[in-house]
Amino acid sequence: MVVGAGQMGSGIAQVAAQAGIQVLLHDVKQEFVERGLSTITRNLSRSVEKNKLTDEDKQSILSRITPCTDLHDAGDVDFVVEAVTENMQIKTDIFTKLDAVCPAHTVLASNTSSLPITEIAAVTNRPENVIGMHFMNPVPVMRLVEIIRGLQTADEVYQSVEDLAKRMGKVPVSVNDFPGFVSNRVLMPMINEAIYCVYEGVATPEAIDEVMKLGMNHPMGPLTLADFIGLDTCLYIMEVLYEGFGDSKYRPCPLLRKYVKAGWLGKKTGRGFYVYS
Ligand code: NAD
Repeated sequence: MVVGAGQMGSGIAQVAAQAGIQVLLHDVKQEFVERGLSTITRNLSRSVEKNKLTDEDKQSILSRITPCTDLHDAGDVDFVVEAVTENMQIKTDIFTKLDAVCPAHTVLASNTSSLPITEIAAVTNRPENVIGMHFMNPVPVMRLVEIIRGLQTADEVYQSVEDLAKRMGKVPVSVNDFPGFVSNRVLMPMINEAIYCVYEGVATPEAIDEVMKLGMNHPMGPLTLADFIGLDTCLYIMEVLYEGFGDSKYRPCPLLRKYVKAGWLGKKTGRGFYVYS
């Protein structure tokens, strides 16, 4: 089961189904699940147009994904990946419910970008079966999966997640449970610093992105990337780093807070550092 049918959840469901796995795709409302399914259908249709998949493949991949809105449907699943909003309260509520519903052997993984796996695991009665499985955006394209062990994660659970990541065509990398893991501990302060450059009038967003693309050979500038990730997610991760390390070098830029308060969350809302029509 994949819980949360947003940007990440729909991508994880797609890649799992492409690997031949039966998937339940869950969200709080039918319309959210349908939005996720239409993203998957669009992605697969594009692959058919590019002759990377046949129409038959597309249909069989889609047939492996079953929409659902009731967490009780997790009663006979072997593996759950949670990919809901980056918020500890929402995630721990879901893990508490899943722990009550799922069979004892079920592994409960979180796709969190930054939240402590050990803390999520602690709300369950199976901390040895809880683990971080951090996919990158867009999931069908990006090869990395950071696998994060909580304090009590069992070695065989780690191994099964590593095997699953490989089966999904990904490259797993093992990381310990520290705020932001490796990916966001390095990436987010860079994005936050780029936002400070806008805030302090050092340069325009276009100029900052151009410097990082042409000067550092990044495929995409940090502000474009922030818009793709979602500015709410970026802010939340900076808060986790700031709180988790208690170090002022991680303070979120006030301009990031302002944009999030205004509802400028990036590409998903049509406006962030850039405007999307
Ligand atoms: P998103 O806003 O696109 O999707 C979140 C989904 O969760 C929404 O569809 C929402 O309806 C659903 N949801 C909220 N509460 C729920 C609940 N109680 N039960 C079921 N579904 C619920 O967000 P996203 O970008 O897909 O991020 C999801 C997770 O993945 C976050 O933890 C985020 O940190 C992580 N992540 C994001 C990125 C990225 O680049 N966006 C990359 C890696 C990891």
